[in-house]
Amino acid sequence: MARKIEKIQLGRRISLGVFFVAFTVLTILHQKVENMPSVDSLCPFGGIETLFKYIAGGELVKKIMPSNLVLLVAIIILGVALSRFFFGWICAFGALQGIFGWIGKKLFKKRRTVPKKLDQALRWIKYPLLVGIVYFTWTTGTLIIRPYDPLAAYAHLSTGIASVWAEFAVGLVILIVVLVLSTLYERAFCKYLCPLGAVISILGRIPLFRIKRESSTCISCSKCDRVCPMNIDVSTVKTITSPECIGCMECVTACPTKKSTLYTTLAGKKVKTGTIVIVGLAIYLGALGVGALTGKLDFVGPSLTDEATKGTLKIEDIRGSSTWEEIAESFNVSLIELYKAANVDETKVPPDTKLKDTGALIGRTFEADEVRIALATLLGISYSGENGTTPSSPVQTVQAVETAQRAPAVPEKIIEPTEAAKPATSAEPVAPVAPAVSEGALAVPEGFVLEGTMTIKDIATALNVPEAKVIEKLQLPADISVTTPLRDMKDQYGYTMTALKERFAQ
Ligand code: SF4
Ligand code: SF4
Repeated sequence: MARKIEKIQLGRRISLGVFFVAFTVLTILHQKVENMPSVDSLCPFGGIETLFKYIAGGELVKKIMPSNLVLLVAIIILGVALSRFFFGWICAFGALQGIFGWIGKKLFKKRRTVPKKLDQALRWIKYPLLVGIVYFTWTTGTLIIRPYDPLAAYAHLSTGIASVWAEFAVGLVILIVVLVLSTLYERAFCKYLCPLGAVISILGRIPLFRIKRESSTCISCSKCDRVCPMNIDVSTVKTITSPECIGCMECVTACPTKKSTLYTTLAGKKVKTGTIVIVGLAIYLGALGVGALTGKLDFVGPSLTDEATKGTLKIEDIRGSSTWEEIAESFNVSLIELYKAANVDETKVPPDTKLKDTGALIGRTFEADEVRIALATLLGISYSGENGTTPSSPVQTVQAVETAQRAPAVPEKIIEPTEAAKPATSAEPVAPVAPAVSEGALAVPEGFVLEGTMTIKDIATALNVPEAKVIEKLQLPADISVTTPLRDMKDQYGYTMTALKERFAQ
C-alpha cells in the first residue's frame, strides 16, 4: 500500500515537472525561434480575458491566440469534474512554487502557516482581483494585467533581467516575493492571488470529485492536515468540500491507517486515487487533443501575410514577433516611410528585425504599438493605440499622411508586396477599386483629411456642401446613413477607408 501511495506522489511530481519543463522550454524557444508559442498563448486565463470580446465579435484580445480558448475549455471541463486538480498536477506556476516550497523545507526544516483568521481573509483577495482584471481587460480590450503578471515575468527571464525589468518590473517584483514566500508558506500565490484559481474555485462547488474521511478508522494523527499545501483541515471533516483543494492527494497518501480512512470518490462512488489521476490527465490532454485535431489549438495565430491573403488584415494583427519587412509588404507601404513614421533609424534596424528586438538595436524602449500607430498614420486609418490613446497630434497626423501621399510610387527601398499580400492595403478588408467621379463632383480643399470617425453629415457640414455631394464623391449608395461613422459601415458596404480616401483625393 505504502509503495503504491509513493508512486502516486512520484507521478504527481513527474507530471508537474513535465508541464513545467515544457512551459519553460517553449517560452525560451519563443525568444529564439520563429513561430513558437508565447507565454500569453500558453495560459488558460487568457481565454477568460478574451472571452467577452470573442463572444461579442469573434475577435481576440491582442496577444491572445485561439489556443487560449481551447486551454480554457479544457480547464473548465476539468474544473467541473475534478475542481482545482489542474493546479495540483499540471500548472507550471504551481510547480515553480512547489520547487521553492521544497527548498524552503530543506532550508528551514519547519512548515509555517499564516494565522487562521488572516489566512481566511487573504484567500478572498483573488476574487475581487479576478473581477477587476476581467472588467478592465474586457473594457479596454488589452491584457491589462500583463506588466504585473509574475508568470509573464518568469517566461521572459531568458531575455535578460534588464529586459524583464523594462517590461515587467512589477511582475518581476511579485515573482520574487511569491517565490521567497513559497519557501515559507506553501502555494502562497495559489491561495491568495491566482485569478484562474478563483474561477476554478467557483466551479469547484459542483465537482464530481470529492475526498472523504472515514471517521471510524481515523486515529486523529493530523498528518493529513500537516501535509496539505493549501492548509485545509482534513482531519475534522467527513468530506472535503473546500474550493481551495487542488487535488494533490498528499493527504490521502500521508494517512497512516491501512483502512482507506481517506478515500477518493467520483460522482459519489468510491474510486481508486490512481483512477482519479488518470481521469484528470485524460480530460485535460484529451481536450487539447480534440483542439489540435480540429485545428483550434493554434498557439501562434495567422501571420500578417495569411491575414492579407484572406483580406482580413488589421493593424491590430501586428505583433512583437512581426518583422519590419513583413509589415511593409503585408500593408503595402514603403519600408523607408514606415521606419520614418515610427521614428526609427533604418540604418540600425535591418528589415528582418522583429519589432520586439528593435529596442535593443536603437538603444531605447520600443513597443510594437509604436509601429501600429505609425502605420495607421501612414494609411490614414483611425487607431487609438493599445491603451486607447493615440500619441500623434492631429497636426502630426496630417503631415504624416501628406508625406506618405507625396512619397514616390517606387521609392528607393520600397518593398513590393507579394501577390498574396497585395489585396490588403489597409487595416480593413479589401474593397473594389472605385470608378471615376462624375463631372461637377465635389472638390476637396487641400489639407482636409478624411477620418473613419467622421459621418457623411460631418463632412458635408465641414465642407459646407450638400450631403448628396459627399455621397457622390465617395461613390456610396444614395440611401447610406449620413449619421453613422464611415468606419462602422465599411463591412456593410464593402469599402475600406483607404479606398474612400483615394476617391476623396481624386
Ligand atoms: S485536501 Fe488533500 S488533496 Fe486537497 S489540497 Fe489538501 S492535501 Fe491536497
Ligand atoms: S491522516 Fe488519516 S488517520 Fe490521520 S487524521 Fe488524517 S484521516 Fe485521520
